[in-house]
Amino acid sequence: MPASDDTLADIYAEVLRRNPGETEFHQAVHDMLASLGPVVAKHSKYVDAAVVRRMCEPERQIIFRVPWVDDAGEVQLNRGFRVEFNSALGPYKGGLRFHPSVYLGIVKFLGFEQIFKNALTGMPIGGGKGGSDFDPKGRSDAEVMRFCQAFMTELYRHLGQYTDVPAGDIGVGGREIGYLFGQYKRITNRYESGVLTGKGLSWGGSQVRTEATGYGTVYFTREILDARGDSFDGKRVVVSGSGNVAIYAIEKVHQLGGTVVACSDSSGYVVDEKGIDLDLLKDVKNVRRARIAEYAAARGASAHVSDRGTVWQVPCDVALPCATQNELDGPDATALIEHGCRVVAEGANMPCTPDAVRRFAEAGVVVAPGKAANAGGVATSALEMQQNASRDSWSFEHTEERLAVIMRNIHDRCLETADEYGAPGNYLAGANITGFIQVADAMLALGVI
Ligand code: NAP
Repeated sequence: MPASDDTLADIYAEVLRRNPGETEFHQAVHDMLASLGPVVAKHSKYVDAAVVRRMCEPERQIIFRVPWVDDAGEVQLNRGFRVEFNSALGPYKGGLRFHPSVYLGIVKFLGFEQIFKNALTGMPIGGGKGGSDFDPKGRSDAEVMRFCQAFMTELYRHLGQYTDVPAGDIGVGGREIGYLFGQYKRITNRYESGVLTGKGLSWGGSQVRTEATGYGTVYFTREILDARGDSFDGKRVVVSGSGNVAIYAIEKVHQLGGTVVACSDSSGYVVDEKGIDLDLLKDVKNVRRARIAEYAAARGASAHVSDRGTVWQVPCDVALPCATQNELDGPDATALIEHGCRVVAEGANMPCTPDAVRRFAEAGVVVAPGKAANAGGVATSALEMQQNASRDSWSFEHTEERLAVIMRNIHDRCLETADEYGAPGNYLAGANITGFIQVADAMLALGVI
């Protein structure tokens, strides 16, 4: 943060003091405050009314015990979280993450990012996030169901279609949303479709929700390329991860004429010079729930697996980090730059470290921040809420067209705002400032609450 921005520096120091040890949350706040100098210089009302300070403090944080019984009859214990961060624009909205690394600092970083991402969509949704340190890997369906039921048995009292509406994230897909919704319905005796998004198509879900984050990231990237008179045609693309976001990013890149030559999971990465075979990848990851090495084994000569280095060593024109936070660091950025990568769009939340972002900026590589590039998921969740409220169900084509338009609008607003605040072409500044102003204005209008 520039030294002259004393007020913002004081606010950041206060965040560090009030939230010790929550390093990912610190990083997310720092990333936002670093963009706000020109905004508070122009509009002192945002600091006068303590808007920025209030924004850095969640409205509510819920931490709860989740006891459940495994298949062997043993009692297991996990910790559940829901951070209801900001409801100035609408009910809290944001996913649930089930992963052993989950603790309060991760949930708060994700919730903080979600506030501004949701604002960027232009939909009436506030920001929140939740999850648990439960690890679904290696658990039977019955165990996952019992965990989800125990988790919702506490969480349900904090939810509601006008209050707080969770969705999926890492480790929470259609199976988990089903078990969570079933338990919510059982406890409340209400078929309240709008209380969760990411539902199955036969019980209140929306077309394109499953695909939306990955598709949206690629649509956003298409806009970046288009603004430079370029396209995906013939581009080599590397995607990290092989979960929900990664799989549908790969699908859309292929539909738009690019070739994804590598993807990964937490055990390593595969390189496939013929282009990732998506049917095989879906079978390995979604049906067999196996490791990425099984893809290479089944694919034959064109593919090989590696557990050395990272997927960012593979040369590409476009990189789409779609796995997790801080997965692409400074040396990874340098490898991508040296191999000629020109565009990085974050399908995951905060996947590039600050060092990587700095190196990309110095090298003139375009970086689209997650809060803009991956906003298609939550935007389509809001479309799901709209359909639930009107008891309607839209076609795949109509919903996908809405998604493409939303991503184009986010892209254009980011660029316009970046221009207005003296940072032309800087998507990070554009996204941070656009999201901030929208939330800040609503907070000012609602008074000190
Ligand atoms: P997912 O389906 O659970 O897939 C996550 C993928 O990332 C898996 O391939 C996983 O590999 C890999 N991964 C997770 N932790 C990792 C680690 N520490 N190191 C290396 N790889 C790791 O989750 P997802 O829904 O695709 O979410 C991926 C990212 O997108 C997250 O940052 C999430 O917050 C963000 N996002 C998701 C949505 C959405 O709609 N789902 C919306 C916006 C943003 P393993 O299977 O080996 O763990």
